[in-house]
Amino acid sequence: DLATSTQVFETRESAVRSYCRAFPTLLTSGRGTTLVAEDGTEYTDFFSGAGALNYGHNHDHIKRQVVAHLEGDGLLHALDFHTAAKREFLGRFGQEILEPRGLRHRVQFCGSTGTDAVEAALKLARKHTGRSQVIAFSGAYHGVSRGSLAATADLSLRKVAGTALGEVTHLPFPVGPRGSFPTMDLLEQYLTDDLSGVDVPAAVILEVVQMEGGVYRIPDADLRHLRDLCDRYGIVLIADEIQAGCGRTGGFFSFEQAGVVPDLITVSKSISGLGLPMSLLLIREGFDSWEAGDHPGTFRGNQLAFVAACAALDLWRNQAFLDRARAGAELLRTFWEDHPLPGVEVRSEGHAIGIDLTHAGGRRAADDVVAHCFARGLIVESTGRDKAVLKLLPALTMEPDVLRRGCELIHEALLTALS
Ligand code: PMP
Repeated sequence: DLATSTQVFETRESAVRSYCRAFPTLLTSGRGTTLVAEDGTEYTDFFSGAGALNYGHNHDHIKRQVVAHLEGDGLLHALDFHTAAKREFLGRFGQEILEPRGLRHRVQFCGSTGTDAVEAALKLARKHTGRSQVIAFSGAYHGVSRGSLAATADLSLRKVAGTALGEVTHLPFPVGPRGSFPTMDLLEQYLTDDLSGVDVPAAVILEVVQMEGGVYRIPDADLRHLRDLCDRYGIVLIADEIQAGCGRTGGFFSFEQAGVVPDLITVSKSISGLGLPMSLLLIREGFDSWEAGDHPGTFRGNQLAFVAACAALDLWRNQAFLDRARAGAELLRTFWEDHPLPGVEVRSEGHAIGIDLTHAGGRRAADDVVAHCFARGLIVESTGRDKAVLKLLPALTMEPDVLRRGCELIHEALLTALS
């Protein structure tokens, strides 16, 4: 019976599917930080839709607003018409998130996925400067359309595109598996040398915390140096906050702690609260070089996503949520400090923990931990070079005892895999 078997996926769905191979289960529902499978198995979620579910699954408050909006026939397909739901989101996002952080950015709605926002950012930077070259960093992930893929560093993803992607130069990220690298000095050298052979770029794009790259944060001083170079040479600084933003790595945005203001900021994943498709480009004053109709798209602004995103903004005014998030990050950081493992480096950035097994078992050990945890009801992913870094992404709302038990299970799996 196809309705109850998984055979339908093998025969009907494209071979491109991937997560379902690593995690062979059929999910039917999610509540908070638990996923439920058709056979009744429950999974603690340390993956959170690759960072799209910072508030967990079907958060009660967010869900109630969405259901009420649906019942009021609020689900319009509106292209980029003005709607009441969009007005509420724009007004509140500006007032409650951007203004308190000194960000004077306009919002561009960009289709539905993070890739769409990166594509728009690169295109706008090129239009704004009249230049074509872009600088990105080794270890970066920015999306899979041609423009955004050109900025993505992963060679296995790039090779799928077949031909040279061009127009993006990757420099070493200032911190990585081989320690630190004086990249900003190198970039300064390029920019000040008229025989460098490197064109002044339209933009530099970076993840302030590289997430798919294995949870590496650029040192604040390097980010400030980069900001200064961009100012001096009229280069557009693009921060990709798609995975590191919305509270995942500390403040609402990962660049806040460095006191740097990027010119363009891409936001997606958790911005809509419930995992509904939503993708934003934030454009600093003076950088909005678009003319009306320059960058159209049918699904620019899903009404349910606006409503869910507003409900998620409510959480950022809620002291209990903020306290829980702060305590959760602290619990994660201290747990892994208190449980060191030989040869294993742990990088903690708020609710993103990278457990680096490069020098302790590598990919095989990481795969073993993922499988061990899955068999015991916990979903966690590996990432980074050779997929040797376990990346823990629990929701900011996870109960402390669930968080601790999850870490204990992962630690037990590590002891087994490394023994
Ligand atoms: N940028 C970053 C930093 C990401 O982590 C991702 C997704 N993993 C993307 C861009 C692309 O987003 P999407 O998969 O929604 O297109």
